[in-house]
Amino acid sequence: LSHRHRVLLYNPRADFHTLPLGLLAVGSALDPERFEVRIVDGRLEGDPLATLSALVDHRTLCLGMGVLTGAPLADALAVSRGIRARFPDLPIIWGGWHASLFGEACLEEPSVDMTVRGQGEQTFAEILERLIAQASPKGVAGCSWRDAEGRVHREVERPPASVEDLPAHDYRLLPVTRYFAHKGRRQLDYVASQGCFWRCAFCADPRVYGRTWSGLSPARMLHEISGLWQEYRFGDLNFQDETFFTHASRALEFAEGLAGLDLPFTWAATMRADQGDRLRDADFGLLARSGLRRVLVGVESGDPDLLRWMQKDSTIDQVLTTLEKCRRHGIAAELPFIVGFPGEAPESVDATLSLARQLRRMAPDFQVRIFFFKPYPGAPISEAAERAGLALPRSLEDWSRFDIYTLGSWLDPGLARRIQRFDHYQRRGWDPIGPLWRRPFAALARWRCEREAFALPWEMWLARARNF
Ligand code: SF4
Repeated sequence: LSHRHRVLLYNPRADFHTLPLGLLAVGSALDPERFEVRIVDGRLEGDPLATLSALVDHRTLCLGMGVLTGAPLADALAVSRGIRARFPDLPIIWGGWHASLFGEACLEEPSVDMTVRGQGEQTFAEILERLIAQASPKGVAGCSWRDAEGRVHREVERPPASVEDLPAHDYRLLPVTRYFAHKGRRQLDYVASQGCFWRCAFCADPRVYGRTWSGLSPARMLHEISGLWQEYRFGDLNFQDETFFTHASRALEFAEGLAGLDLPFTWAATMRADQGDRLRDADFGLLARSGLRRVLVGVESGDPDLLRWMQKDSTIDQVLTTLEKCRRHGIAAELPFIVGFPGEAPESVDATLSLARQLRRMAPDFQVRIFFFKPYPGAPISEAAERAGLALPRSLEDWSRFDIYTLGSWLDPGLARRIQRFDHYQRRGWDPIGPLWRRPFAALARWRCEREAFALPWEMWLARARNF
């Protein structure tokens, strides 16, 4: 097999532990008879540049990267520049969310030669054929590229193929057990669909996938997942789908099949509130029996007007009915909220915190997560905010410093402090308590949250100073 072309794929460093499923999809779509795919993950390597460099030889066709906005972009820049300095002739190709949204802007970076926008399997495969033929990617749909004179070209969009028509992901391309160690648990990430039909105005998914969705059949999911379990014996399966429950009948057929297989693992997936609302109580019973341990329901806000404005297309009542069914069947929930939209009224923040408290009281394993709004690239609200005068990051360096934790310049510092303290105390008050000595602190935290009594937060300072 020494005649095969080597294709290097790099997953930049990030502060989350998910398997690089995008790179896995792209690598799995290449013919193994012709291509030797090597995936290097910056999170698993002490010196990723050295690891990648050691893999570059006369057979190496290119280096591809999956690039996300924020810290991964900073690492992608550093590694691309390092590889370009050592191997000036090796083509470097970026894909992933940031490259999909800013296909041409990424090419302002001299070390990046091409970008892949949207679903990458077919586009990347066609680019490789051009590289083998020493031809330009002119006409390769979904690709943006820079020619020898420095001119940037944007080829036409590529409509996403149905994931059912794409090959199964070949997990042998990844050191799966090293990821278990990295995560601290035998949890496997898996994705069974792509895209999303909805239109939430803070989200970049509709821009990248054009509100299309495709999913694997339940039969194929069951076949692949049971094969993966035989191989890796994971204890938990973490679906990375944007909206797992897009078609209720498909999700329930999967759950029924999984319950029948009786494999000893749990699973977790995303569920929109309107989807959960439509499912019957008995359906939740089946989901629980199949091992569903947690759903992620994007609540976003407690203010109905704000929900309408952000085109969430689900309601607070639907959140409550979905979570009541989860509670009855012992299914945990992760509940993200967003606060601090530019111009958000204080009453809207009050409504959000009030709903967050209500949900936390419902069950100890309903975990609320409060994020400050960030103008995520490609989302309509970000573009509207920019038109209203908000300065969005411009350069790749600016986007590489962008993260979901830092505060926007439009945020009132008093409001930011209130939210941060609420978030700290709601976690301390309602998350699983741990050692007994924490109980009085948890009770005090709940008391503070209920009354919004956040003055002199000495326990918070203490916890931070002593890191407990
Ligand atoms: S937030 Fe979720 S449901 Fe809304 S558009 Fe994005 S992926 Fe779809």
